[in-house]
Amino acid sequence: MVKNNNHFTNHDLRRVVIELLEQRGVTLQAIAQVVYDIQHAFYPELTLELCLESVEAVIDKREVQHVLLTGIALDMAAEAGNLPEPLLSILRDDNLLYGVDEVLALGITNVYGSIGLTNFGYLDKQKIGIIGELNSRRQPGRVHTFLDDLVAGVAAAAAARLAHALPDKLSEADLALPPEGRDRGQQAAGGPVGDGTVAGGAVSRDALP
Ligand code: MG
Repeated sequence: MVKNNNHFTNHDLRRVVIELLEQRGVTLQAIAQVVYDIQHAFYPELTLELCLESVEAVIDKREVQHVLLTGIALDMAAEAGNLPEPLLSILRDDNLLYGVDEVLALGITNVYGSIGLTNFGYLDKQKIGIIGELNSRRQPGRVHTFLDDLVAGVAAAAAARLAHALPDKLSEADLALPPEGRDRGQQAAGGPVGDGTVAGGAVSRDALP
C-alpha cells in the first residue's frame, strides 16, 4: 500500500534516504569525513564521530529528506531515460549552464543559515572527498548531476551546525574549568560544565540544535 506522505515518519524517510544514498555510492561516514576535513583545523577537539552525529541530525530533518529524495530521483530518472528532452540530455551531460542542482542543494544548506551557504560555496569549488569522487566517477550511463551538490549540501549544513554550537560550548568550558580540569579532558565531576556539553573532548549532540 502506498502511504500518504503524512504517514511517513521521519524515521521511515531517514531510512529510505540513507538506503538511496548508499545505492548511489554515498555513505554517511563519507559525508562525515568531508565535514571533519573542513572543520578540524578550527576545532582540534572535533572527532569524526561528532561529525557523523551532525550529518545524521541534518538527515533527520524532513525538509532535507525531501530535497534528497527529489534530487536523487531526478538523477535516477535521467539514468533510466525517463525524462523528456531536452532536460534528459542536459542532466546526462551535467551541462555547465544548468544550475538547478546547486539551487536545490541550497534547500539543505539554508537550514543552518549563512555559514551553511559559505561552506557550500567552498565545497562546490574544492570538491573534497566523496564530492570529488562523484564528480570524477563519471561512467557511461551514470548520472550524478544532483548527487554531488546534495552531498555538498549535507556536509555544508552539518559543518555549519557544528560551527554554530561548538565555539560557545568549547569557550564556556575553557573559561569555567581550572587548568587541571582541562588537562583531565574536562571531565571534572560536578564541575561547571556538569551539563555534559563538553566531556573528554566530545560534545554531546543534545547540546546542538
Ligand atoms: Mg552537480
